[in-house]
Amino acid sequence: MRQIKVTNTLTGRKEPLETVTPGRLTMYSCGPTVYGLIHIGNLRAALVADMFYRYFMRAGYEVVFVRNYTDVDDKIIKKALEEKTTADAVALKYTAEVEKDYKSADMLEPTHKPAVTGHMPEIIALVRKIIDNGKAYVVDGEVFFSIDAFPEYGKLSHKNLEDLEAGRRVDVNDKKRNPMDFSLWKPAKPGEPSWDSPWSRGRPGWHIECSAMSSRWIGDRIDVHHGGEDLVFPHHENEIAQSEAASGVRPFVRYWMHSAFLTLAKEKMSKSLGNVFLARDFLARFGAAVARYMLLGVHYRSMIDFNDDTLEQALTGIQRIYEAKAKALAMAGVGTAGPWNDFVSACDRTAAEMDDHFANDFNTPGALGALFTLIREFNRLAALQPSGAGVDAGKRLVRLIEHDLGGVLGVGLGDPASMLKELDRIRAERLGGAGGRMSVEEIQKLIDARTAARAARDFAEADRLRKELDSRGIVIKDSKDGTAWSYK
Ligand SMILES: [Zn+2]
Repeated sequence: MRQIKVTNTLTGRKEPLETVTPGRLTMYSCGPTVYGLIHIGNLRAALVADMFYRYFMRAGYEVVFVRNYTDVDDKIIKKALEEKTTADAVALKYTAEVEKDYKSADMLEPTHKPAVTGHMPEIIALVRKIIDNGKAYVVDGEVFFSIDAFPEYGKLSHKNLEDLEAGRRVDVNDKKRNPMDFSLWKPAKPGEPSWDSPWSRGRPGWHIECSAMSSRWIGDRIDVHHGGEDLVFPHHENEIAQSEAASGVRPFVRYWMHSAFLTLAKEKMSKSLGNVFLARDFLARFGAAVARYMLLGVHYRSMIDFNDDTLEQALTGIQRIYEAKAKALAMAGVGTAGPWNDFVSACDRTAAEMDDHFANDFNTPGALGALFTLIREFNRLAALQPSGAGVDAGKRLVRLIEHDLGGVLGVGLGDPASMLKELDRIRAERLGGAGGRMSVEEIQKLIDARTAARAARDFAEADRLRKELDSRGIVIKDSKDGTAWSYK
């Protein structure tokens, strides 16, 4: 079995991965709340889990991967009111929409995809067990987890109770014994989705669902639990409290792995902020390969600021890979001699180096760096064109790109001719807006407007127009004869 190291939020350290059952790895990833289309920040978290899944399988594990859908939630109820429909209909609709986006991002199907509404008996049984174990109490049909009965509370987020209480928002709920106690079950308000339970007709709190579904599909001990870093507190902290309070088994999760945020031009992306960049729009415009390269090419624990530069880097990286693949395919089947012998052993070394990077807490930038060093050498040799009877260097590089890169990142698997054409289209669109390059008439119109602004001494407007042209790939040059322009 390949030795893999992962950073564990629970211990704050990078640790060798050792599963409960040797050769078998269980993984749970918190999935989306289905009340709208996912944004690229959500897509990043989902793709990171997809990459873990692919690599764990490649490393030789039999993997059980569970990703849930939260289909009962205040946001879903609110959306149902807005769309004048039922919460069920909202959840069903957006589960299907999210699945479409996952498919267009070339994500693998998890082993199980449970949803909350299909697990009410399990949730109720789990809440009952926590009450029986003296770690939860009932007030007026509502069930609260008792923080004071679980002294280890805070161990994942590395906070003590005093810190947490100092930082919490003022909570007017005087039913709670401790203001930090959280709801496991709450009575439903009229019109809300509800289920019968021993305590009230109501619905589960948010956190209990993941404890119930992971226990149902994996058991009381999970190897890897993944989620966005915003879930560390309170969601994952509460999952630990619930699961360990119910089963008495510690630790509930061996390795907690959290992926970092994606920010949009330095602002945290979140649906509630309204600065949404939908995964669907991004995938339609740039395709799965660009999305995967951009979102996985950065280490999963590092923030990605989504801006023109990050997109440009992804386009350039993919282009280099596909140009090399095109050349390598053209060479495949042709014997190559001399320096190409050394190139084939360089491929073997690079494959091992890339694997070392992936096994080292998924160091994707390291793996890509190793690949690009090899591609530079390939390009140098291809320019010299040494030929003769010998090794099939082309075939070896294609295999490296498809197996050693594609097998983990899901990038590089496509046909180079169509992919390079697609990249051209993307670049042309970026320079010229949706309709391709800016037309001569469009350019002249903006230049005339700028000339008029300058004549009216409106330099701010003139500057804005120059910047607009620049951002659309047009360079201008002023002279006494007027303004000349060219494509960048
Ligand atoms: Zn969860």
